[in-house]
Amino acid sequence: KMRIGVLTSGGDSPGMNAAVRSIVRVAISRGCEAYAIFEGYKGLVNGGDMIKKFEWGDVRGYLAIGGTLIGTARCAAFRERKGRLSSAYNLIKNKINSLIVCGGDGSLTGANALREEWPGLLSELIEEGRITAEEAEPYKHLIIVGLVGSIDNDMSSTDITIGATTSLHRICEAVDSISSTALSHSRAFVIEVMGRHCGWLALMAAVSCGADFVFIPERPPTRDDWESDICEVLERHRRLGKRKTIVIVAEGAIDKNLKPIKSEYIKELLTNRMGLDTRVTTLGHTQRGGRPCTFDRNLATIQGVEAVEAVLRSTPDTPSPLIGVRQNKITCDPLMLAVEKTNKIAEAIAQKNFRLAMDLRDPEFTE
Ligand code: ATP
Repeated sequence: KMRIGVLTSGGDSPGMNAAVRSIVRVAISRGCEAYAIFEGYKGLVNGGDMIKKFEWGDVRGYLAIGGTLIGTARCAAFRERKGRLSSAYNLIKNKINSLIVCGGDGSLTGANALREEWPGLLSELIEEGRITAEEAEPYKHLIIVGLVGSIDNDMSSTDITIGATTSLHRICEAVDSISSTALSHSRAFVIEVMGRHCGWLALMAAVSCGADFVFIPERPPTRDDWESDICEVLERHRRLGKRKTIVIVAEGAIDKNLKPIKSEYIKELLTNRMGLDTRVTTLGHTQRGGRPCTFDRNLATIQGVEAVEAVLRSTPDTPSPLIGVRQNKITCDPLMLAVEKTNKIAEAIAQKNFRLAMDLRDPEFTE
């Protein structure tokens, strides 16, 4: 009998609850048992009452609630083998033989590490006398499935991650609110949005709100004197009759020499060179979303179904799958390929290969 553990890890994202609800209910209806592991990997490492069997009713009302009700955490202990050893112990003690992890690339890398070390971890637990060989026998293979919960939409191989659309909605609402006051006072606003390595939120918000300029990590301004470029564009927009100026900056925005482009710096530029009454607004944690939009609820629900199906299909030889979506179809690809491709984007940026960084963002791109 499959006993499926589910956990949410890394930064929370709207729709994680819908994923948990879907996994629990699909698991039950397919004759499996579902276990919620609280506080991400912390619950796995600590065990005890942080791992609980979930019934159908336990996820009632989950669809409409933002964040993650089963909790999430950054867990340093899980990065160490010792932490993963106690995780293995807790899984076996709870008779859990498969794990669905909803999180970002870090969380999914951690999940994969656990699976790769699994046989070694079992032998160590037996040697230490914490479990017997008979106890370990039914758990020779651990099945791991990944779902991407992230507001940044920063995972490659998938068109969109769970939570990104809701976050984009929140950003657009905020930019719209700022726009009306900017228009009234004829002001300029520099709006900083999340995205340390990924400019998706900034770029999409700029398109959705008709911003005048946007800065993203993957595509720094090409000219050395980009300050003159932005001023020219903004001045042209003003000459055309615009009474407001909106510049969107991803938190990880950089120039072509990899030097951060800070919102305050742009504010000084607009104030001093253009004489614009300029304010900075950092949207901060409001962008984490709150109530998930229908798209995220649906995406998380159907990906949850696929995650359970992937558990049921998995054999000891199949690489851990990652559930994604491409061109409106749910996908199931090797998890580590997607993680490696994602890591390559940061590497390409660090090597100033911005063209490759943009190409790698395309889910269909293969080198
Ligand atoms: P976000 O996109 O929101 O940052 P994330 O999943 O990438 O989400 P991380 O903080 O990188 O967030 O990872 C979450 C947790 O996953 C870590 O606190 C750690 O417990 C585990 N983890 C991350 N990377 C590894 C790794 N290389 N090996 C083992 N565990 C890891």
